Amino acid sequence: MQTNFTAAQLADPHVAESEKILRKCVHCGFCTATCPTYVTLGNELDSPRGRIYLIKDMLENGRPADKEIVTHIDRCLSCLACMTTCPSGVNYMHLVDHARAHIEKTYRRPLMNRLTRGVLAAVLPYPGRFRAALQLARLGRPFANVFDRVPALKPFAAMLRLAPASVPAASAMATPGSHAAKGTKLGRVAILTGCAQPVLEPGINEATVSLLTRLGIEVVVPKGEGCCGALVHHMGREEAALASARQNVDAWTREIDSGGLDAIVITASGCGTTIKDYGFMLRLDPAYAEKAARVSALAKDVTEYLATLDLPEPQRKPGLTVAYHSACSMQHGQKITRQPKDLLSRAGFVVKEPREGHLCCGSAGTYNIMQPEISARLRDRKVKNIEATGAALVATGNIGCITQIASAARLPVVHTVKLLDWAYGGDKPAGLE
Ligand code: SF4
Ligand code: SF4
Repeated sequence: MQTNFTAAQLADPHVAESEKILRKCVHCGFCTATCPTYVTLGNELDSPRGRIYLIKDMLENGRPADKEIVTHIDRCLSCLACMTTCPSGVNYMHLVDHARAHIEKTYRRPLMNRLTRGVLAAVLPYPGRFRAALQLARLGRPFANVFDRVPALKPFAAMLRLAPASVPAASAMATPGSHAAKGTKLGRVAILTGCAQPVLEPGINEATVSLLTRLGIEVVVPKGEGCCGALVHHMGREEAALASARQNVDAWTREIDSGGLDAIVITASGCGTTIKDYGFMLRLDPAYAEKAARVSALAKDVTEYLATLDLPEPQRKPGLTVAYHSACSMQHGQKITRQPKDLLSRAGFVVKEPREGHLCCGSAGTYNIMQPEISARLRDRKVKNIEATGAALVATGNIGCITQIASAARLPVVHTVKLLDWAYGGDKPAGLE
Protein backbone atom coordinates (compact mmCIF):
# COMPACT_ATOMS: atom_id res chain seq x y z
CA MET A 1 0.00 0.00 0.00
CA GLN A 2 1.36 3.40 -0.92
CA THR A 3 1.68 5.83 2.00
CA ASN A 4 2.13 9.61 2.15
CA PHE A 5 3.70 10.49 5.47
CA THR A 6 5.95 13.54 5.71
CA ALA A 7 9.53 13.33 6.97
CA ALA A 8 8.43 15.18 10.11
CA GLN A 9 5.70 12.59 10.78
CA LEU A 10 8.14 9.73 10.25
CA ALA A 11 10.45 11.21 12.86
CA ASP A 12 7.95 9.82 15.39
CA PRO A 13 9.05 6.20 15.86
CA HIS A 14 5.45 5.05 16.41
CA VAL A 15 4.36 6.56 13.10
CA ALA A 16 7.45 5.13 11.38
CA GLU A 17 6.57 1.65 12.65
CA SER A 18 2.96 1.96 11.51
CA GLU A 19 4.09 3.21 8.10
CA LYS A 20 6.20 0.06 7.65
CA ILE A 21 3.18 -2.07 8.55
CA LEU A 22 0.84 -0.18 6.22
CA ARG A 23 3.24 -0.57 3.31
CA LYS A 24 3.04 -4.35 3.63
CA CYS A 25 -0.73 -4.46 3.08
CA VAL A 26 -1.61 -5.20 -0.56
CA HIS A 27 -5.40 -4.70 -0.08
CA CYS A 28 -6.07 -8.33 -1.08
CA GLY A 29 -8.87 -8.69 1.47
CA PHE A 30 -8.09 -12.32 2.35
CA CYS A 31 -8.28 -11.26 6.00
CA THR A 32 -11.94 -10.23 5.75
CA ALA A 33 -13.12 -13.86 5.46
CA THR A 34 -11.73 -14.81 8.87
CA CYS A 35 -12.53 -11.58 10.75
CA PRO A 36 -15.28 -12.24 13.31
CA THR A 37 -16.71 -8.73 13.12
CA TYR A 38 -16.85 -8.75 9.31
CA VAL A 39 -18.40 -12.23 9.35
CA THR A 40 -20.97 -11.01 11.91
CA LEU A 41 -21.71 -7.48 10.68
CA GLY A 42 -20.82 -7.66 6.96
CA ASN A 43 -19.47 -4.10 6.87
CA GLU A 44 -16.09 -3.50 5.18
CA LEU A 45 -15.27 -0.91 7.84
CA ASP A 46 -15.59 -3.68 10.42
CA SER A 47 -13.02 -5.80 8.59
CA PRO A 48 -9.23 -5.68 9.02
CA ARG A 49 -8.77 -4.08 5.59
CA GLY A 50 -11.40 -1.43 6.31
CA ARG A 51 -9.83 -0.65 9.68
CA ILE A 52 -6.39 -0.45 8.12
CA TYR A 53 -7.69 2.20 5.67
CA LEU A 54 -9.29 4.16 8.50
CA ILE A 55 -6.09 4.06 10.57
CA LYS A 56 -3.96 5.07 7.57
CA ASP A 57 -6.21 8.02 6.84
CA MET A 58 -6.17 9.17 10.48
CA LEU A 59 -2.41 8.85 10.91
CA GLU A 60 -1.42 10.27 7.52
CA ASN A 61 -3.55 13.35 8.05
CA GLY A 62 -2.30 13.65 11.62
CA ARG A 63 -5.84 14.33 12.73
CA PRO A 64 -7.61 13.51 15.97
CA ALA A 65 -9.76 10.39 16.04
CA ASP A 66 -13.44 10.89 15.27
CA LYS A 67 -16.61 9.00 16.15
CA GLU A 68 -16.48 6.86 13.00
CA ILE A 69 -13.00 5.47 13.52
CA VAL A 70 -13.58 4.98 17.24
CA THR A 71 -16.74 2.98 16.49
CA HIS A 72 -14.96 0.59 14.13
CA ILE A 73 -11.75 0.25 16.14
CA ASP A 74 -13.75 -0.35 19.34
CA ARG A 75 -15.60 -3.17 17.56
CA CYS A 76 -12.28 -4.89 16.76
CA LEU A 77 -11.72 -7.81 19.16
CA SER A 78 -7.92 -7.77 18.74
CA CYS A 79 -8.37 -11.48 18.09
CA LEU A 80 -5.60 -11.33 15.46
CA ALA A 81 -7.26 -13.88 13.15
CA CYS A 82 -6.36 -11.40 10.41
CA MET A 83 -2.66 -11.85 11.19
CA THR A 84 -2.93 -15.62 10.82
CA THR A 85 -4.68 -15.22 7.47
CA CYS A 86 -2.67 -12.38 5.97
CA PRO A 87 -0.23 -13.64 3.29
CA SER A 88 1.81 -10.41 3.42
CA GLY A 89 2.78 -10.49 7.09
CA VAL A 90 0.91 -7.31 8.07
CA ASN A 91 1.38 -6.80 11.82
CA TYR A 92 -2.16 -5.66 12.52
CA MET A 93 -1.60 -6.01 16.28
CA HIS A 94 1.02 -3.27 16.43
CA LEU A 95 -0.97 -1.09 14.04
CA VAL A 96 -4.20 -1.27 16.02
CA ASP A 97 -2.28 -0.80 19.30
CA HIS A 98 -0.89 2.45 17.89
CA ALA A 99 -4.35 3.49 16.67
CA ARG A 100 -5.85 2.85 20.10
CA ALA A 101 -3.16 4.93 21.80
CA HIS A 102 -3.83 7.74 19.28
CA ILE A 103 -7.57 7.52 19.97
CA GLU A 104 -6.99 7.65 23.71
CA LYS A 105 -4.90 10.82 23.31
CA THR A 106 -7.10 12.65 20.82
CA TYR A 107 -10.72 11.62 21.34
CA ARG A 108 -13.08 12.55 24.17
CA ARG A 109 -15.51 9.68 24.66
CA PRO A 110 -19.09 10.15 25.93
CA LEU A 111 -19.33 10.36 29.71
CA MET A 112 -20.73 6.87 30.41
CA ASN A 113 -18.19 5.28 28.08
CA ARG A 114 -15.38 7.06 29.91
CA LEU A 115 -16.82 6.03 33.24
CA THR A 116 -17.17 2.36 32.29
CA ARG A 117 -13.64 2.19 30.91
CA GLY A 118 -12.34 3.99 33.98
CA VAL A 119 -14.04 1.51 36.32
CA LEU A 120 -12.68 -1.48 34.40
CA ALA A 121 -9.14 -0.08 34.39
CA ALA A 122 -9.31 0.75 38.10
CA VAL A 123 -10.76 -2.58 39.23
CA LEU A 124 -9.90 -5.56 37.02
CA PRO A 125 -6.08 -5.48 37.27
CA TYR A 126 -6.17 -5.49 41.09
CA PRO A 127 -7.24 -8.83 42.65
CA GLY A 128 -8.44 -7.27 45.95
CA ARG A 129 -10.63 -4.69 44.22
CA PHE A 130 -11.86 -7.22 41.67
CA ARG A 131 -12.88 -9.68 44.41
CA ALA A 132 -14.81 -6.93 46.23
CA ALA A 133 -16.48 -5.87 42.96
CA LEU A 134 -17.59 -9.45 42.26
CA GLN A 135 -19.17 -9.68 45.73
CA LEU A 136 -21.07 -6.47 44.99
CA ALA A 137 -22.06 -7.71 41.54
CA ARG A 138 -23.81 -10.69 43.10
CA LEU A 139 -26.09 -8.28 44.94
CA GLY A 140 -26.65 -6.18 41.81
CA ARG A 141 -27.44 -9.11 39.52
CA PRO A 142 -31.25 -8.77 39.77
CA PHE A 143 -30.91 -5.27 38.24
CA ALA A 144 -29.19 -6.46 35.04
CA ASN A 145 -32.44 -6.35 33.04
CA VAL A 146 -33.10 -2.79 34.22
CA PHE A 147 -29.61 -1.65 33.13
CA ASP A 148 -30.16 -3.34 29.77
CA ARG A 149 -32.95 -0.90 28.93
CA VAL A 150 -30.56 2.08 28.92
CA PRO A 151 -27.99 1.78 26.08
CA ALA A 152 -25.23 3.54 28.06
CA LEU A 153 -25.71 1.11 30.97
CA LYS A 154 -25.61 -2.09 28.90
CA PRO A 155 -21.94 -2.71 29.81
CA PHE A 156 -22.91 -2.75 33.49
CA ALA A 157 -25.68 -5.27 32.72
CA ALA A 158 -23.10 -7.43 30.93
CA MET A 159 -20.73 -7.16 33.91
CA LEU A 160 -23.46 -8.28 36.31
CA ARG A 161 -24.37 -11.26 34.11
CA LEU A 162 -20.75 -12.38 33.80
CA ALA A 163 -20.10 -12.24 37.55
CA PRO A 164 -19.99 -15.75 39.05
CA ALA A 165 -22.64 -16.89 41.53
CA SER A 166 -19.94 -17.34 44.17
CA VAL A 167 -16.37 -16.10 44.47
CA PRO A 168 -13.74 -18.69 45.44
CA ALA A 169 -11.51 -18.00 48.44
CA ALA A 170 -8.10 -16.49 47.68
CA SER A 171 -5.39 -19.09 47.13
CA ALA A 172 -2.28 -19.25 49.31
CA MET A 173 -0.44 -20.23 46.14
CA ALA A 174 -0.50 -16.61 44.93
CA THR A 175 1.71 -15.51 47.86
CA PRO A 176 5.28 -14.70 46.74
CA GLY A 177 7.69 -17.53 47.48
CA SER A 178 8.92 -20.77 46.05
CA HIS A 179 7.29 -24.18 45.53
CA ALA A 180 10.01 -26.80 45.65
CA ALA A 181 10.39 -29.48 43.02
CA LYS A 182 9.42 -32.97 44.18
CA GLY A 183 12.22 -35.50 43.74
CA THR A 184 15.15 -34.57 41.53
CA LYS A 185 15.02 -30.92 40.50
CA LEU A 186 14.96 -30.64 36.72
CA GLY A 187 14.22 -26.97 36.24
CA ARG A 188 13.13 -23.65 37.72
CA VAL A 189 10.39 -21.39 36.39
CA ALA A 190 8.47 -18.31 37.50
CA ILE A 191 4.69 -18.31 37.23
CA LEU A 192 2.60 -15.26 36.43
CA THR A 193 -0.13 -15.36 39.04
CA GLY A 194 -2.14 -12.76 37.13
CA CYS A 195 -4.94 -10.46 38.24
CA ALA A 196 -8.49 -11.54 37.29
CA GLN A 197 -7.78 -15.26 36.82
CA PRO A 198 -6.68 -16.11 40.40
CA VAL A 199 -9.84 -14.40 41.68
CA LEU A 200 -12.22 -16.17 39.30
CA GLU A 201 -10.47 -19.55 39.21
CA PRO A 202 -7.54 -19.97 41.64
CA GLY A 203 -7.49 -23.70 40.82
CA ILE A 204 -5.75 -23.02 37.49
CA ASN A 205 -2.49 -21.80 39.01
CA GLU A 206 -2.80 -24.36 41.82
CA ALA A 207 -3.03 -27.18 39.25
CA THR A 208 -0.04 -25.71 37.38
CA VAL A 209 2.13 -25.65 40.52
CA SER A 210 0.95 -29.10 41.54
CA LEU A 211 1.74 -30.59 38.11
CA LEU A 212 5.06 -28.83 37.55
CA THR A 213 6.47 -29.56 41.01
CA ARG A 214 5.52 -33.25 40.61
CA LEU A 215 7.42 -33.20 37.32
CA GLY A 216 10.54 -31.93 39.13
CA ILE A 217 10.21 -28.21 38.36
CA GLU A 218 10.63 -25.57 41.07
CA VAL A 219 7.96 -22.88 40.66
CA VAL A 220 8.66 -19.38 41.93
CA VAL A 221 5.99 -16.75 42.56
CA PRO A 222 8.13 -13.62 42.27
CA LYS A 223 7.64 -10.73 44.64
CA GLY A 224 6.40 -7.60 42.89
CA GLU A 225 4.74 -9.09 39.81
CA GLY A 226 1.27 -7.84 38.93
CA CYS A 227 -1.18 -7.54 36.06
CA CYS A 228 0.49 -8.00 32.66
CA GLY A 229 -1.04 -4.71 31.46
CA ALA A 230 -3.06 -6.20 28.58
CA LEU A 231 -6.32 -4.68 29.76
CA VAL A 232 -5.12 -1.07 29.73
CA HIS A 233 -2.94 -1.74 26.66
CA HIS A 234 -6.07 -2.66 24.68
CA MET A 235 -7.73 0.53 25.92
CA GLY A 236 -4.88 2.59 24.43
CA ARG A 237 -3.61 3.61 27.88
CA GLU A 238 -0.02 3.23 26.89
CA GLU A 239 1.68 4.72 29.94
CA ALA A 240 -0.30 2.49 32.31
CA ALA A 241 0.48 -0.57 30.17
CA LEU A 242 4.18 0.25 30.08
CA ALA A 243 4.23 0.80 33.85
CA SER A 244 2.81 -2.73 34.36
CA ALA A 245 5.31 -4.14 31.89
CA ARG A 246 8.25 -2.46 33.68
CA GLN A 247 7.05 -3.69 37.07
CA ASN A 248 6.93 -7.28 35.83
CA VAL A 249 10.22 -7.02 33.95
CA ASP A 250 11.83 -5.85 37.21
CA ALA A 251 10.27 -8.70 39.22
CA TRP A 252 11.33 -11.40 36.75
CA THR A 253 14.76 -9.89 36.15
CA ARG A 254 15.48 -10.18 39.89
CA GLU A 255 14.62 -13.89 39.67
CA ILE A 256 16.66 -14.40 36.50
CA ASP A 257 19.66 -12.73 38.12
CA SER A 258 19.36 -14.62 41.42
CA GLY A 259 18.27 -18.24 40.86
CA GLY A 260 17.98 -18.28 37.03
CA LEU A 261 14.78 -19.11 35.16
CA ASP A 262 14.11 -21.65 32.40
CA ALA A 263 10.80 -19.99 31.60
CA ILE A 264 8.14 -17.58 32.76
CA VAL A 265 5.06 -19.79 32.74
CA ILE A 266 1.75 -18.17 31.89
CA THR A 267 -1.64 -19.84 32.29
CA ALA A 268 -3.80 -17.20 30.57
CA SER A 269 -3.01 -16.94 26.87
CA GLY A 270 -4.27 -13.35 26.72
CA CYS A 271 -1.52 -12.37 29.16
CA GLY A 272 1.01 -14.50 27.26
CA THR A 273 0.47 -12.57 24.02
CA THR A 274 1.14 -9.28 25.80
CA ILE A 275 4.19 -10.48 27.75
CA LYS A 276 5.71 -11.91 24.59
CA ASP A 277 5.32 -8.38 23.17
CA TYR A 278 7.07 -6.60 26.10
CA GLY A 279 10.29 -6.52 24.06
CA PHE A 280 8.50 -4.50 21.38
CA MET A 281 6.48 -2.37 23.78
CA LEU A 282 9.61 -1.27 25.68
CA ARG A 283 11.97 -1.11 22.66
CA LEU A 284 12.27 2.68 22.91
CA ASP A 285 13.18 2.66 26.61
CA PRO A 286 16.97 2.27 26.88
CA ALA A 287 16.73 1.24 30.54
CA TYR A 288 14.34 -1.62 29.78
CA ALA A 289 14.65 -2.65 26.11
CA GLU A 290 17.18 -5.43 26.67
CA LYS A 291 15.63 -6.74 29.90
CA ALA A 292 12.14 -6.73 28.35
CA ALA A 293 13.36 -8.64 25.28
CA ARG A 294 14.90 -11.23 27.61
CA VAL A 295 11.63 -11.58 29.53
CA SER A 296 9.62 -11.94 26.30
CA ALA A 297 11.96 -14.68 25.11
CA LEU A 298 11.43 -16.59 28.37
CA ALA A 299 7.63 -16.23 28.39
CA LYS A 300 5.87 -19.53 27.65
CA ASP A 301 2.30 -20.68 27.80
CA VAL A 302 2.08 -23.55 30.29
CA THR A 303 1.32 -26.04 27.47
CA GLU A 304 4.24 -24.70 25.44
CA TYR A 305 6.53 -25.30 28.43
CA LEU A 306 5.08 -28.73 29.27
CA ALA A 307 5.69 -29.82 25.68
CA THR A 308 9.43 -29.24 26.21
CA LEU A 309 9.54 -31.65 29.20
CA ASP A 310 10.15 -35.35 29.10
CA LEU A 311 6.75 -36.35 30.46
CA PRO A 312 6.19 -39.75 32.10
CA GLU A 313 3.20 -41.94 31.27
CA PRO A 314 0.01 -40.43 32.73
CA GLN A 315 -1.21 -42.01 35.97
CA ARG A 316 -4.75 -42.30 34.69
CA LYS A 317 -6.28 -42.07 31.24
CA PRO A 318 -9.69 -40.42 31.71
CA GLY A 319 -10.87 -41.36 28.20
CA LEU A 320 -13.26 -38.39 28.08
CA THR A 321 -14.06 -36.64 24.81
CA VAL A 322 -12.91 -33.03 24.98
CA ALA A 323 -13.76 -30.18 22.61
CA TYR A 324 -10.59 -28.12 22.48
CA HIS A 325 -11.29 -24.40 22.11
CA SER A 326 -8.17 -22.59 21.02
CA ALA A 327 -8.26 -19.05 22.41
CA CYS A 328 -7.44 -16.39 19.81
CA SER A 329 -4.51 -15.23 21.91
CA MET A 330 -3.26 -18.84 21.85
CA GLN A 331 -3.66 -19.66 18.15
CA HIS A 332 -3.37 -16.21 16.54
CA GLY A 333 -1.48 -14.20 19.15
CA GLN A 334 1.10 -16.82 20.11
CA LYS A 335 0.72 -19.31 17.23
CA ILE A 336 0.41 -22.19 19.70
CA THR A 337 -1.84 -24.71 17.99
CA ARG A 338 -0.43 -28.21 18.34
CA GLN A 339 0.91 -28.50 21.91
CA PRO A 340 -2.35 -28.29 23.94
CA LYS A 341 -4.08 -30.88 21.73
CA ASP A 342 -1.04 -33.20 21.70
CA LEU A 343 -0.74 -33.01 25.49
CA LEU A 344 -4.43 -33.76 25.98
CA SER A 345 -4.32 -36.71 23.57
CA ARG A 346 -1.23 -38.09 25.22
CA ALA A 347 -2.96 -37.77 28.60
CA GLY A 348 -5.77 -40.01 27.37
CA PHE A 349 -8.43 -37.52 26.26
CA VAL A 350 -10.15 -37.84 22.90
CA VAL A 351 -9.75 -34.39 21.37
CA LYS A 352 -12.35 -32.91 19.01
CA GLU A 353 -11.93 -29.63 17.19
CA PRO A 354 -15.12 -27.57 16.77
CA ARG A 355 -15.97 -26.07 13.37
CA GLU A 356 -14.93 -22.43 12.80
CA GLY A 357 -12.20 -22.84 15.40
CA HIS A 358 -10.49 -19.71 14.06
CA LEU A 359 -13.41 -17.47 15.11
CA CYS A 360 -13.33 -15.65 18.45
CA CYS A 361 -15.80 -16.63 21.21
CA GLY A 362 -16.46 -12.93 21.85
CA SER A 363 -14.66 -12.72 25.18
CA ALA A 364 -11.59 -10.70 24.13
CA GLY A 365 -10.60 -9.07 27.42
CA THR A 366 -13.34 -6.60 28.28
CA TYR A 367 -15.04 -6.85 24.88
CA ASN A 368 -17.92 -8.91 26.30
CA ILE A 369 -18.62 -5.98 28.63
CA MET A 370 -18.04 -3.09 26.21
CA GLN A 371 -19.64 -4.69 23.10
CA PRO A 372 -22.20 -7.07 24.63
CA GLU A 373 -24.38 -7.57 21.52
CA ILE A 374 -21.62 -8.59 19.09
CA SER A 375 -19.97 -10.59 21.85
CA ALA A 376 -23.18 -12.56 22.55
CA ARG A 377 -23.62 -13.37 18.85
CA LEU A 378 -20.07 -14.71 18.66
CA ARG A 379 -20.48 -16.65 21.91
CA ASP A 380 -23.69 -18.33 20.74
CA ARG A 381 -22.08 -19.27 17.42
CA LYS A 382 -19.07 -20.71 19.26
CA VAL A 383 -21.19 -22.68 21.76
CA LYS A 384 -23.29 -24.14 18.93
CA ASN A 385 -20.13 -25.37 17.17
CA ILE A 386 -18.69 -26.75 20.41
CA GLU A 387 -21.87 -28.60 21.34
CA ALA A 388 -22.08 -30.10 17.84
CA THR A 389 -18.88 -32.05 18.55
CA GLY A 390 -20.76 -34.20 21.08
CA ALA A 391 -17.88 -33.76 23.56
CA ALA A 392 -18.40 -34.21 27.29
CA LEU A 393 -16.48 -31.07 28.21
CA VAL A 394 -14.54 -28.12 26.80
CA ALA A 395 -10.83 -27.50 27.34
CA THR A 396 -9.24 -24.13 26.78
CA GLY A 397 -6.29 -22.10 28.01
CA ASN A 398 -7.67 -18.66 28.75
CA ILE A 399 -9.84 -17.52 31.65
CA GLY A 400 -11.73 -15.02 29.49
CA CYS A 401 -12.86 -17.81 27.14
CA ILE A 402 -13.74 -20.05 30.10
CA THR A 403 -16.04 -17.39 31.58
CA GLN A 404 -17.55 -16.48 28.22
CA ILE A 405 -18.27 -20.03 26.98
CA ALA A 406 -19.44 -21.23 30.40
CA SER A 407 -22.02 -18.42 30.46
CA ALA A 408 -23.94 -20.17 27.65
CA ALA A 409 -22.69 -23.76 27.29
CA ARG A 410 -24.40 -26.78 28.84
CA LEU A 411 -21.13 -28.66 29.34
CA PRO A 412 -18.26 -27.98 31.76
CA VAL A 413 -15.46 -25.67 30.59
CA VAL A 414 -12.10 -26.51 32.13
CA HIS A 415 -8.61 -25.09 31.78
CA THR A 416 -6.33 -27.47 29.85
CA VAL A 417 -3.76 -27.59 32.66
CA LYS A 418 -6.34 -28.81 35.17
CA LEU A 419 -7.11 -31.78 32.93
CA LEU A 420 -3.41 -32.51 32.50
CA ASP A 421 -2.78 -32.24 36.25
CA TRP A 422 -5.60 -34.74 36.83
CA ALA A 423 -4.23 -37.21 34.29
CA TYR A 424 -0.76 -36.96 35.82
CA GLY A 425 -1.89 -37.70 39.37
CA GLY A 426 -3.53 -34.47 40.58
CA ASP A 427 -7.07 -33.81 41.74
CA LYS A 428 -10.06 -34.27 39.50
CA PRO A 429 -11.28 -30.83 38.36
CA ALA A 430 -14.44 -29.64 40.10
CA GLY A 431 -17.52 -29.91 37.95
CA LEU A 432 -16.54 -33.22 36.29
CA GLU A 433 -18.15 -35.43 38.89
S1 SF4 B 1 -8.14 -8.42 15.19
FE1 SF4 B 1 -9.90 -9.78 14.83
S2 SF4 B 1 -11.71 -8.43 14.91
FE2 SF4 B 1 -9.89 -7.12 14.69
S3 SF4 B 1 -9.68 -6.79 12.48
FE3 SF4 B 1 -8.39 -8.57 12.99
S4 SF4 B 1 -9.70 -10.36 12.65
FE4 SF4 B 1 -11.06 -8.57 12.76
S1 SF4 C 1 -4.84 -10.06 4.11
FE1 SF4 C 1 -3.09 -8.76 4.72
S2 SF4 C 1 -2.43 -7.77 2.82
FE2 SF4 C 1 -4.48 -8.58 2.43
S3 SF4 C 1 -5.88 -6.84 2.94
FE3 SF4 C 1 -5.68 -8.09 4.79
S4 SF4 C 1 -4.00 -7.13 5.93
FE4 SF4 C 1 -3.86 -6.36 3.81
